[in-house]
Amino acid sequence: MLQYPQCHLCTTEPFEELEVYNSKRKKLTLTYCPIGNSPKNPTIAIIGFSPGPQQVKTYKKLVDQGTHPIEALSRAAFSGRLRKNLAEMLQALYLPQILGFNNSEQIFQPESLEEKVHLTSLVKCPAKIDNKPKPFDPRYFPQTLICATIRFKRELPENSVKLFITLGKHVEEFFQSFYYNYPYIAIPHPSPANMRTIKSFLNDKQKLEKLRQQIGKYLS
Ligand SMILES: [Zn+2]
Repeated sequence: MLQYPQCHLCTTEPFEELEVYNSKRKKLTLTYCPIGNSPKNPTIAIIGFSPGPQQVKTYKKLVDQGTHPIEALSRAAFSGRLRKNLAEMLQALYLPQILGFNNSEQIFQPESLEEKVHLTSLVKCPAKIDNKPKPFDPRYFPQTLICATIRFKRELPENSVKLFITLGKHVEEFFQSFYYNYPYIAIPHPSPANMRTIKSFLNDKQKLEKLRQQIGKYLS
């Protein structure tokens, strides 16, 4: 199992559930989910907010069955419709070609994850309230901020990453506040629930062209 620096909420045992109470006496279940990779020479990093329940389930099952963590990540990360949406957005930015890949799917292959593509989450101890996954919200649990700042900053080999791609509004807001000096572009969250935003992103020729120029500048 890959180990990363932990925030004080990330439990010592991966995937062990930790129950805590917040200031409003709500019961939260936190799970430390060390899902991600450490490529040898990462060029790009794709940053989600926190591992989704389905991703965690698939990843854990594969690893428990003895699948290599990189292979498990390759199969579990953004699986299903999420992967298709993400691949489509990355293709619209010409990113696979710029990175020397034949297509978007190659970005998620184990060889790419070993070498140059870093997949990770801003928060590795996602919280559930009443068993429903909750994205970061300081009203629920202010300490999660530590995971998205100190732990995240320690995890990333930012010196070699030339381009960070943030997925969705929450991650974009964190980058605007804490990582504004990193070379990043923000794209919509690839969730099927976000289809309207994804479609308008894919149809916004001006925005796509602007982002392609930014990518060209960072990766040149
Ligand atoms: Zn954490």
